[in-house]
Amino acid sequence: MPVHPMAAELLELLQIPSPTGLTEAALDWTERKLGALGVPYRRTRKGALLWSLAGDRPALTFSAHVDTLGAMVKEILPSGRLRLSPIGGYDWASIEGEYATVHLQDGGRVSATVLNQKQSTHIFGPELRELRRSADTMELRLDADTRSAEQTRELGIGVGDFVSWDSRATLAGEGYIKGRHLDDKAGVIALLAATAALKDRPAPGRHAAHFFLSNYEEVGHGAARGIPEDTDTLIAVDMAAVGPGQTSDEHCVSICLKDAGGPYDHAASQRIRAVAAEEAIDLRCDLYTYYSSDATAAWRSGGDFAAALIGPGVDASHSYERTHQDALIATARLIGAIIERF
Ligand SMILES: [Zn+2]
Repeated sequence: MPVHPMAAELLELLQIPSPTGLTEAALDWTERKLGALGVPYRRTRKGALLWSLAGDRPALTFSAHVDTLGAMVKEILPSGRLRLSPIGGYDWASIEGEYATVHLQDGGRVSATVLNQKQSTHIFGPELRELRRSADTMELRLDADTRSAEQTRELGIGVGDFVSWDSRATLAGEGYIKGRHLDDKAGVIALLAATAALKDRPAPGRHAAHFFLSNYEEVGHGAARGIPEDTDTLIAVDMAAVGPGQTSDEHCVSICLKDAGGPYDHAASQRIRAVAAEEAIDLRCDLYTYYSSDATAAWRSGGDFAAALIGPGVDASHSYERTHQDALIATARLIGAIIERF
């Protein structure tokens, strides 16, 4: 199966670390892509990236988020290793053994690995198996000569430095993309692909569309401000949770009808389902129990518009994730179809 350009572009974006709070490089990359498409863009004061396509029907805003899970240096331990404070919601066990990068104040980087305090089975034996993984038992081992807090400080590392997880993004099998942070870089790529597909098509008869790239979604307030005033419906494009009991699939786009924030707008969701049916897009319907989106963040902060949530199926979310290029293609197609027929 040939590699779809969207999959290749996603791999590129996944190489750029962007934990919440340190998203400039990923936003710069996106701006360069928009520049190459000849699409003008602007930034909100909070740093979110916005661009638009003309249309003469009520404006739809599609959001995706460029920020990802990560951590911040909480404390330099006497051993020279680092204690971490998490950025975003994840289980510590899901990052055990992961390669990481510490981003220094001066722009330098130090590579590292996430370990627990009793990682060697030869030394700790049963204690390792019984260890509860938590902020107090996980630590970062630096790839540098340090055995004391003083030596670590001499490396230029300080409390508050950002830590990113290596995405380890790779193409696998027939059209799969696996790696960390498909949530929500897969959504970002779908927004770019829909923009590229529609930018030269005639605007009359279709909806005006805004695209909002959020930089604080993983901490819950990304789209709390900055959604354009004329927005009639906000459609968050974020990963669909794949797993037992779900209809979502790595090959498909999904619509979420209810998550931890409650039900999404019924009429908007119904229209999206109708558009998908007209276009013969296999749209899966699901509820996500432990999930909330930028659409909910926008509603909670008083957004006066309808809101819905769609996105590509992602397996093992907030861990070492996987999706298929079919899901990227379906998501971009659905966005385009919504703009033209919603
Ligand atoms: Zn997300």
